[in-house]
Amino acid sequence: MSKLSPKICRFEPRTTGTAPVSSEDVSTALGMAASRPAGLLLRAKWAMDYQAAVAFVELQVERTEKRIARRRWKPKNKLAVRPMVWLAMRELGIVRPSRVYGSTGYELGAEKCGGCDGVGRRYSRRQEKNIQCERCEGSGEKRWTDNERASRCGLHHTSWAGNWADLYDWMLEDMRAMQRKAVAQMWVLLADVHSEHLDEKRDGHGG
Ligand SMILES: [Zn+2]
Repeated sequence: MSKLSPKICRFEPRTTGTAPVSSEDVSTALGMAASRPAGLLLRAKWAMDYQAAVAFVELQVERTEKRIARRRWKPKNKLAVRPMVWLAMRELGIVRPSRVYGSTGYELGAEKCGGCDGVGRRYSRRQEKNIQCERCEGSGEKRWTDNERASRCGLHHTSWAGNWADLYDWMLEDMRAMQRKAVAQMWVLLADVHSEHLDEKRDGHGG
């Protein structure tokens, strides 16, 4: 794996100017070790760090395999775990298939709904007006059916329903929980930064 290098990203809203923050800063500021799954997930999603996404997948594959072992379940197709983690990353809007021609890999960014191209609304010829997209229910995000999930992971849909769907639900919920925690911590952090900024302003102008 190539070296993890901090990338520069910008958090501040455009109107108030920008301060460069590195992806290392993001995870350490949130009290998450950069090498822990939540820290990596955070760096992939909010600091646009692709190497972190790759490292997260490896850790999540290990976590999932341990979980499978604890359940004393011996799946025939253990290779389904890795594509499953990538699929969960796609569903959470962290990665999308690479748009570089001929590439089979992923790049950072959310995937758009194919029905409305991410807009959430589409023109209905029958109704002769713009309506909410039925496929994504207006969210603009790509939604996956169980059949699509199964085939994406190289599994038959009966095997998916019988064995893998539960595990996948756990994985999605696990990753959502990491994100929720990170977002909550990010709000606290930004509130702190903001209030410090206000304090400085007050001190500067005050008496
Ligand atoms: Zn849509």
